Amino acid sequence: MSKKTPGLNTICTHIGEIKDEQYKGAVSPMYLSTSYEFMDVDVKRYPRYFNTPNQVHLAKKIAALEHAESAMIFGSGMAAISTMFLAFLRQGDHLVVQNTLYGGTLNFIKEEFPKYGIEYTFTNGYKVDDFEAAIQPNTKLIHIETPSNPLMTITDIRAIAELGKSKDIFTSIDNTFASPVNQNPMDLGIDMVMHSATKYFGGHSDILAGAVASSDENIERIWNVGKNLGGSLSDMTVWMLERSMKTLGLRVKAQTKNAMKLAKWLEKHPNVSKVNYPGLKSHPEYKLAKSQMSGFGAMLSFELIGELDALQFQKELKLIKSSMSLAGIESTMLSPHLTSHSLLSQEERDAIGLSNQLIRFSVGIENVKDLKQDINQAMDALR
Ligand SMILES: *Cc1c(COP(=O)(O)O)cnc(C)c1O
Repeated sequence: MSKKTPGLNTICTHIGEIKDEQYKGAVSPMYLSTSYEFMDVDVKRYPRYFNTPNQVHLAKKIAALEHAESAMIFGSGMAAISTMFLAFLRQGDHLVVQNTLYGGTLNFIKEEFPKYGIEYTFTNGYKVDDFEAAIQPNTKLIHIETPSNPLMTITDIRAIAELGKSKDIFTSIDNTFASPVNQNPMDLGIDMVMHSATKYFGGHSDILAGAVASSDENIERIWNVGKNLGGSLSDMTVWMLERSMKTLGLRVKAQTKNAMKLAKWLEKHPNVSKVNYPGLKSHPEYKLAKSQMSGFGAMLSFELIGELDALQFQKELKLIKSSMSLAGIESTMLSPHLTSHSLLSQEERDAIGLSNQLIRFSVGIENVKDLKQDINQAMDALR
């Protein structure tokens, strides 16, 4: 980045703000019109065209964060991903996609693709060779998730981008877990980056939204499909998302720092048999993670020893909440075998190493000593 490029927290605070020319207020005005003039205007504006003032301006912040030319904001992460897929895949095309995938994306592919005549292959693993082996003559898109949910596997982003370029195949990544604070895949050659903005972008567990960032050309292609599918975000929520994103850098850095401390502590804990966190030297892809992430993120997972009931442990927690979702400023935990991976059979879960003792931990901004104390008191209560 050049010296002129603003830093992370400056982008979060200022890029894309709307100047309040009328009243000189400090924050962006909220434009809620669904009806704009059609005569003598440069742009015919309509919320479903993704081009109201608040949508256009906030998209600039997201593009700046992902070092992309353009971005689009959607009504959910799934609206972003489904629109992106349908913009780059048509009848007879083939998608290569990671086997450990966010459940909603997996369902979208399995339930909807057959209706469109789009083919797909789930990889056998998260290594570049696994992706290469799945490529067919009609493959048009490779989609990855790194770090992955919930085992935090790391896929080589540079190598996937090179693989795509060498075979004229588009590449996309779900960057939700790392967030642009910790990982910028477009700098590593990936074509498109998508986010569930419901997670770190919103950060307070009160906004459902999504985003895609890419080149002007790719975003135009996504826009052409997006206006037909109709998955834009209402301007009131766009405004709330802008408000949330001002602290994205601060929040995620604090959460990432906490996660590193807790991962190290849990790894030594006598009641914990395994910790999955890319920032630990014991992680099989630690070096790769270090080479492609600027921070290791705030998501981790760990296994309790067999004597402790993983569900009972979560019930005993007083500060850390049990939650289906993730990435809020509050720490949350869940059991993947009962939530995101409940549709897999025991054999399938065993095959990917997902035990019933595994707990996914979305680390928040609380003080680490209080989180440790909560974990310890819940463990003690089980003895
Ligand atoms: C939550 C999530 C999604 C889907 O986003 P929604 O906003 O719930 O539609 C996609 N990918 C990942 C990694 C997620 O965590």
